[in-house]
Amino acid sequence: MNQKEKSLRKELTSTRLLKKVMADHFYELDEAAKRGDPKIAWCSSVGPAELLRSMGFLVYFPENHGAMLGASRMATDLIPYANAIGFSPDICSYLTIDIGSFLQKKTPLQRAYKIDSVPRPDILVYNTNQCRDVQDWFCWYGRHFNVPCVGIHTHRQVGKIEEYHLKDIGEQHKALIPVLEEVSGNRFDMDRLREVVGLSKETSVLWRKCLETASHVPSPWTFFDATIHMGPAVVGRGTKEAVEYYRVLLEELQDRIKNGIAAIDGERYRLYWEGMPIWGKLRALSELFASLRSCIVASTYCNSWIFDQLDPDYPFESMALAYTELFIVRDEAYKEDYIRRCWEFFKFDGIIFHDAKTCPNNTNNRYGMPVRLSEMLGIPSLTINGDLNDLRCYSEEQTKTNIEAFIEQLEEEKG
Ligand code: SF4
Repeated sequence: MNQKEKSLRKELTSTRLLKKVMADHFYELDEAAKRGDPKIAWCSSVGPAELLRSMGFLVYFPENHGAMLGASRMATDLIPYANAIGFSPDICSYLTIDIGSFLQKKTPLQRAYKIDSVPRPDILVYNTNQCRDVQDWFCWYGRHFNVPCVGIHTHRQVGKIEEYHLKDIGEQHKALIPVLEEVSGNRFDMDRLREVVGLSKETSVLWRKCLETASHVPSPWTFFDATIHMGPAVVGRGTKEAVEYYRVLLEELQDRIKNGIAAIDGERYRLYWEGMPIWGKLRALSELFASLRSCIVASTYCNSWIFDQLDPDYPFESMALAYTELFIVRDEAYKEDYIRRCWEFFKFDGIIFHDAKTCPNNTNNRYGMPVRLSEMLGIPSLTINGDLNDLRCYSEEQTKTNIEAFIEQLEEEKG
């Protein structure tokens, strides 16, 4: 790929602030871990972060660390160490890369921030809304550090959301309070929870608006930008810093639209990405799609951090709703209808399905969805075989050939 093609992708200037927000997040955790105050809770990515913050914990997200490890391409070195203590190479490669990194005392935090290790947890809290792997992953650390590992157990394959789903999930949130009080040393405070839920909602509303700017033709940013800029939505839910960050990002994206700046010059094809990112290949894929004048304008993955159902007037009820309406816990009919609605809004020409070897939970091509969606929407789809982290499951050459052929097919269809 020549230099001219590479330059088709444009960096957002908000990236500078993004780096600061993410660095501050890790420095704050590192200092707290060294002092032992405030207490630190590890939380799964769509776990009860609002409740934890309201109880005075700093919150650390191992999946974010897993993605950093993947982006640093450390999988091949580190995953075998987790395999050696009995974790299969076929299970979540966030889990195996993260535990491998812990066993080897290697983390991208060392190079990025001169932080020696991930912060020691005082408690680990998961929600199985995404998968069982988070529970097994967190409980391994719970045993290692001899600290509590507790969680919320979610309904799966949910079609219509029923009252009993919400009541159950709301009650499970409340049931965590005694152990959180004991570990944090703080009493539960409803007003503080309302405040945090309000901030989390504001973050979500702004993040949705940022993502929705991609409905503009041409789009001011791509899926590859969004996977990086979603960092504060993942690690900063319920903080003022995340709200501030998305105000800045939204303004930049709106400015791009106003000034006619497209993420991809000469945008010709608009695509949807279904499934996990391939963290170690973000740049290469971004440049490949840009060179083909193709913009990935929307994705299930980035949309998964929109929790605008949150309502500070009804914190438990709305947390239950937000964490049950989630795409990943819904049935096939809901998911297909969700992607259809995205198609109507973002107007894409085709869908890329990523079949991630170690994450069946975020892989949706295996039960006939691509065929059904193609028939329903009248647009083609392509399935890429790979993995979120384990690049041994990914063939760069094969993928490049398949993507180029797919874009040619779109070209023929456009005529
Ligand atoms: S949803 Fe997939 S990537 Fe995320 S923790 Fe579960 S198995 Fe791993």
